[in-house]
Amino acid sequence: MVPAGDYTKSTPPPQSRGRGDLPETALSRAFRGVGPKRGRQLALMGILTPQDMLYNFPRDWSDRSSGSDLSKVPEGPVVFQGRILSGRLIRANPRLGIFKARVATGDRKIDLVWFKHLSFRYDAFAAIKKDVTTGADLWIVGKAEGDLLGVREVRVDEYYLLSDPRKALHVGRIVPVYGLTEGITQHLMRELAHQAVSAAAAVPADPLPPALLHKRGLLSLKQALSAVHFPRSFAELEAARTRLAYEELLLLEFAWIFKRRQTRGLAKNFSYEIKRHLLTPFREGLGFELTRAQKRVINELFEDLRQPFPMTRLLQGDVGSGKTVVALSALLLAVENGYQAAFMVPTEILADQHMTTLSQFLKGLPVRCAMLTSRLSKGDRDKTVEKIRAGEVDIIVGTHALLESDVQFPKLKFAVIDEQHRFGVRQRTTLRQKSALLDLLVMTATPIPRTLALALYGDLDVSTLDEMPPDKTTAQTFHAPEEESLAAVKAEAAKGHQAYVVYPIIEESANLDLQSAKAEYERLRTGPLKDLRVALIHGAMPGRTKAKIMAEFGKREWDVLVATPVIEVGIDVPNATVMVVQNADRFGMASLHQLRGRIGRGRLPSVCYLVADPKTEDARRRLETLVATCDGFRIGEEDLKIRGPGEFMGTAQHGELTLKIADLHRHAELLAQARSDAEEMLKTDPRLLATENGPLRDRILSLYGDTWNRIDLA
Ligand code: ADP
Ligand code: MG
Repeated sequence: MVPAGDYTKSTPPPQSRGRGDLPETALSRAFRGVGPKRGRQLALMGILTPQDMLYNFPRDWSDRSSGSDLSKVPEGPVVFQGRILSGRLIRANPRLGIFKARVATGDRKIDLVWFKHLSFRYDAFAAIKKDVTTGADLWIVGKAEGDLLGVREVRVDEYYLLSDPRKALHVGRIVPVYGLTEGITQHLMRELAHQAVSAAAAVPADPLPPALLHKRGLLSLKQALSAVHFPRSFAELEAARTRLAYEELLLLEFAWIFKRRQTRGLAKNFSYEIKRHLLTPFREGLGFELTRAQKRVINELFEDLRQPFPMTRLLQGDVGSGKTVVALSALLLAVENGYQAAFMVPTEILADQHMTTLSQFLKGLPVRCAMLTSRLSKGDRDKTVEKIRAGEVDIIVGTHALLESDVQFPKLKFAVIDEQHRFGVRQRTTLRQKSALLDLLVMTATPIPRTLALALYGDLDVSTLDEMPPDKTTAQTFHAPEEESLAAVKAEAAKGHQAYVVYPIIEESANLDLQSAKAEYERLRTGPLKDLRVALIHGAMPGRTKAKIMAEFGKREWDVLVATPVIEVGIDVPNATVMVVQNADRFGMASLHQLRGRIGRGRLPSVCYLVADPKTEDARRRLETLVATCDGFRIGEEDLKIRGPGEFMGTAQHGELTLKIADLHRHAELLAQARSDAEEMLKTDPRLLATENGPLRDRILSLYGDTWNRIDLA
């Protein structure tokens, strides 16, 4: 099998829309072997036309070009040629039939087995009885069982007569392996793909103009489509994948560029003036010097805010790189100008945290802050909403409660979304709807290298904090047994320091996980940590209780906080120096990195223990990476590699980024080429109106025009 890269990870949307026909008739007309039922089944896979079939790339390729070595493969998939010695039908019970045959291949004799449900209406074994007769020469594809001496028996999945001309599609070559749906077999998919590849009319006009193909030495679309389904060699397959990946990335880059162009075409009806009556005292009261990176990014933001079009900027920076202060500077600029600003965060704990930070940093300044979360009582909420509406609040910190429709901000001009991966694009858009020309800053603690960021967040401008504040210790991380970890907790507690012990809660098993976290809390409290003051905090608690426990922990009333990942984002208790993460292999990499960012918040050296017994190679790799590096960029990149772009950016964003064949890592170089080629082409043909760019333009619109509803090349 050939590794298929990452492209199975995002769900492809249907390639075609708006065709007048019922899907099944469109397909049945075009394909032999597709009636209404199969037509519907294929439509479920997004395949409505021969062209869709062409763009339904295999998810893998299997090398059947020569036969398997049957003396070496005791079990697993095999493919080989042989001559039938004998064969007969056995009835296992009234419903199940078994056909058994003996086949000679090389100097071996192997038993072949077919299982089929019997039917009163037709003879399920008719074809087999006709084909598998003594002396017949066959290709066999199936699953082998055997022993040390090699294959003994093969359960047959497919067979082909040597005399059958169509066998050339299925055996004796590199064979495509497709994603399937109920009722659709690999065999059928190969036949259909072959029909599509052979029908000249099915291949659409090449979206890549000849000059571009020439410049990058790429296969034509026709060659690439044919080779991706039925490659004659692995080299040809690679060339086809490169060509198709390039096309995909180029289309994506164009889409991003057009989308940005449109946002930049909007005219803001307000502007900012840097007045400094808030910014200067804020800066002076910080108690630390901003890092060079913070200063640079603040300048980038201010530049952006003063542009005539709305800002849409991503600020990426590792955990602890000081994004909050940067965001606050921009929030204050808005307030200096008499505007309202919002600070949206994914959790109530984080909202609390930011409120505290704000009141510290803004002490004595004439800035009115309020918090809006779903935890507020109805009365308090209504009061706050009313104040916001009356313009009596300058900075509003809140969770998604900010998005509720009755929350009106008359003077909202600027919003920050923290930990944006916890939100989807939809929330971003909803916020924009509150104020169409809003300046928007989104922040993420999972930074990735610039080219990748540009591809993934293509409609955003990207700023990066690539420097940590001084005196930040990074948590040294170990993969260690529980005893050792808890011993460290006790040792640190003896020095007056605090600790977190974190348990995973995975959505699919949230209830069970919560129960076991509670049970573990009891075990630790009464067992290994019985001499310490141990508190429990978990996501299912009422917000008020959570806030109370966090506040107590902040005041050192507890030594140890047993927690579910509610503490993952943004908690800031500098006196906490140890973290033990239980079942660490169940957490994602970015989560673990975020988690350990909760310690090492002050000058004290701190340690993170990952307690885990990783079961898979992937899990082991994740843990090793975390032990080896504290560099958020490397972790972000690795995480993106393991999870793929859709997951990485949060499920809500799937629809935005559908890469079927390109792999952002394998094809990083291609991505950079695609970007510069797109920019180059637009210099001479800004709207892609030239005749030779027609197919390209059509393809961009058909892929992205609907999705965003905003791409408009008129
Ligand atoms: P993150 O980027 O993870 O959101 P924060 O903004 O929470 O990081 O900052 C982490 C800690 O570092 C906070 O306690 C903050 O006050 C502090 N901090 C931020 N910038 C600096 C700086 N330039 N020098 C020293 N400490 C800083
Ligand atoms: Mg933060």
